[in-house]
Amino acid sequence: MIQPILDKALAGKRLTAEDCTALLESHDFVRIGLAADEIRNRKNDPDVVTYIIDRNINYTNVCNVVCTFCAFYRRPGKPDTYVHSMDEVCARIDETIALGGTGVLMQGGLHPDFNIEWYEDLLSTLHAKYPDFQLHCFSPPEIHNISLISKLDYKTIMQRLKDAGLNSMPGGGGEILDDEVRKRVSTKCTTQEWLDVMRAAHEVGLRTTATMMFGIGDRIEHRVRHLQRIRDLQDDTGGFTAFIPWTFQRENTALGRKITEEPTGIDYLKMLSVSRLFLDNVQHIQASWLTQGIRLGQAALRFGADDMGSIMIEENVVSAAGANNEANERDLRYQIREAGYRPQQRDILYNYVNRENIDALDQSDSMKLKQLTVAFAD
Ligand code: SF4
Repeated sequence: MIQPILDKALAGKRLTAEDCTALLESHDFVRIGLAADEIRNRKNDPDVVTYIIDRNINYTNVCNVVCTFCAFYRRPGKPDTYVHSMDEVCARIDETIALGGTGVLMQGGLHPDFNIEWYEDLLSTLHAKYPDFQLHCFSPPEIHNISLISKLDYKTIMQRLKDAGLNSMPGGGGEILDDEVRKRVSTKCTTQEWLDVMRAAHEVGLRTTATMMFGIGDRIEHRVRHLQRIRDLQDDTGGFTAFIPWTFQRENTALGRKITEEPTGIDYLKMLSVSRLFLDNVQHIQASWLTQGIRLGQAALRFGADDMGSIMIEENVVSAAGANNEANERDLRYQIREAGYRPQQRDILYNYVNRENIDALDQSDSMKLKQLTVAFAD
């Protein structure tokens, strides 16, 4: 009996936590998806799906906390730890710019020695060298780590990082924003600390995204509380540009060896659609093709998502845990077109980016030709 809840959302009324629970408990994901698609079309251009060309740079894998769902981190002092030099970071940015990229998503482990000055140095050097290139960096756990090392409050840190060149902040480290779950799987910052960092970022004028990684032992009630906390903060600050849910990637992780059931494709699509319906104050919902695969990522565009995320020139964190999906710009544009939309590059703040010669990319139908060739071979 979910139709009255969907009608309520379609009438522009706000859903309650109980409504959200009922939707997540329902198996009628097609009906929920149709409503989410309708709301998506009202909030964003119904003909367009956006994507970004950027790169994840993980400046270090050294991390002084333990998350049982993470296959990326290395404890300080272990032989396979690394910290990228400035030259290595710049080489990666040069390559991104050559591919039409507009920014970088830079995150790392929680290094025990990196204070606020280390991060200011990194940002100001990059900002001086690439003044028009967007620096979308760090996450609440990293900011919390700086606050412990440098003994500064979150707002001071965010202001100093902004002054050094930070353009916006990703919503990493959210996982499930409920300490009942978080404390079982991680020793990183608490739910309240994550939210407080985000509030501080928004207060100094930075926009951020918000994420959710589910399937880490959470139940529906935890997912609902997560969404409620994002919506409440967004009511206060309006600082979130987008919400990005994805499912736990289990390979090579301690948690993955314990978990027996993982979210299905339908769980993912339903979570995406319910996010669109419940988060009535968040403009963009992003499909996570990297974790779900390009085909489910494409289907997500009809379940409430209006954005396809990044072409992901480099990714090290979820790929270490088994998400080995790959796509270049042509692949993403093809998937978007075949879902019935016009692909549109954007920057990190969702402004449209128009490059010369982009039509040539679309006119080159190598993907279609490739598929025909496979069909004939069959
Ligand atoms: S998820 Fe982040 S904070 Fe947790 S262990 Fe991995 S790198 Fe460290």
